[in-house]
Amino acid sequence: MTLNKTILKSVSLFKKAKEYFPGGVNSPVRAFKAVEGSPLFIRKGKGSFIWDEDNNKYIDFCCSYGPLILGHSNTKVYSSIKKATRNGTSFGAPTSLENELGNLILSNNPFIEKIRFVNSGTEAVMSGIRLARGYTGKNKIIKFEGCYHGHVDSLLVKSGSGLATLGESSSAGVTNGIVEDTIVLPLNNTEALRKCIEENKNDLACIIIEPIPANNGLLLQDKKFLFELRKLSSENNILLFFDEVISGFRVKFNGAAELYNIKPDIIAYGKIIGGGLPVGAYGAKKEIMSFISPEGPVYQAGTLSGNPAAMSAGIAQLKECLRPGFYEDQEIRTKFFVEKINSFAKSKSYNFELITIGSIFWISFNKEKTIKRADEVNSDMNMFKSLFWALIDEGVYIGPSGYEVGFISQSHTKKILNKAVKKFCRALDKIYN
Ligand SMILES: *Cc1c(COP(=O)(O)O)cnc(C)c1O
Repeated sequence: MTLNKTILKSVSLFKKAKEYFPGGVNSPVRAFKAVEGSPLFIRKGKGSFIWDEDNNKYIDFCCSYGPLILGHSNTKVYSSIKKATRNGTSFGAPTSLENELGNLILSNNPFIEKIRFVNSGTEAVMSGIRLARGYTGKNKIIKFEGCYHGHVDSLLVKSGSGLATLGESSSAGVTNGIVEDTIVLPLNNTEALRKCIEENKNDLACIIIEPIPANNGLLLQDKKFLFELRKLSSENNILLFFDEVISGFRVKFNGAAELYNIKPDIIAYGKIIGGGLPVGAYGAKKEIMSFISPEGPVYQAGTLSGNPAAMSAGIAQLKECLRPGFYEDQEIRTKFFVEKINSFAKSKSYNFELITIGSIFWISFNKEKTIKRADEVNSDMNMFKSLFWALIDEGVYIGPSGYEVGFISQSHTKKILNKAVKKFCRALDKIYN
């Protein structure tokens, strides 16, 4: 790639960072491996814009991979954090802010009765799995190929081709003993699910799914499959676990559960819930949550869990999300953006499409059909790489991998989106010509 802009400061910071951190980063996707070249070091963000260390300005559709539904450095979130942290950042003792965020969520959420705050999505999922096993007294879990649930040991499993395969770890350092109770199934396949439940029904603690799988492209599931998933879990006394770390507070306040009107047994949240600070949470009905320590036998704790800084950020952000029309407006602007780009690509017969739900979109080079399973993603990642750098040149920032989705925030106004559409279309012309 030949860039028309200078990113020399980022390049030199990355060189230094490689001396300090494995791969120069503290989370792998940031290293730009999939698109090659040096990651951009970000100096600041405001609204829908970010600036890198060389002072290049971008319209940002990464939004920190989802948490920033109000955009960068939102005034309300920022003042809330400032006000709370004046009195200290953590006490290791309860604070009223935990009650406030707990009440804000629970009084608006018909799917869970109690919640526990943790510090990340990974932690929320990990604790929820432990709860499912502790509550049911059973060991096995089902997960779906292409769903990401954080770097939880027992969920770092890949599947071979075909139907149900027994877990084989996809990370060094995760022993086969840890993943032997994890069964991996293909998404959107009721038959495979039914067969697997039939064979394992007395051993299954839970079935975990991203109801809107958004970590391997955007693999929108048939509602029929999700309803069947609910039905089969109930009939066989298996807990249904929705990982709503991305979809929660994103597609609706209560995520995919509200969108599809399906009541899971356990839900994990993350990302948006913390207003840009590290927060995760898991919730369920009272009876299930009573198994969590100190009420019950399932141990789970956290020195910084529910700290005032994080709680105050979450409170400010979720209050905005609760304003009437918030999600409708998000969706209207997203549709506007997506449809303009899609009709341009169609008019030029480019093999390209943006797939969307709520305020999430995914860049798909699989124009022929809607993709619902991980093994159907045959996107041309070379095309993605070219598009990525063409967009950088135009001043548009997206996640540096073709498997990542993009996010639209409240601060992406129609005017800004219109500008972004033009940039996107120019970038498409560049890579297709
Ligand atoms: C991001 C994500 C996680 C992990 O959350 P972290 O805060 O990165 O640990 C888990 N599940 C899903 C669906 C996610 O998108």
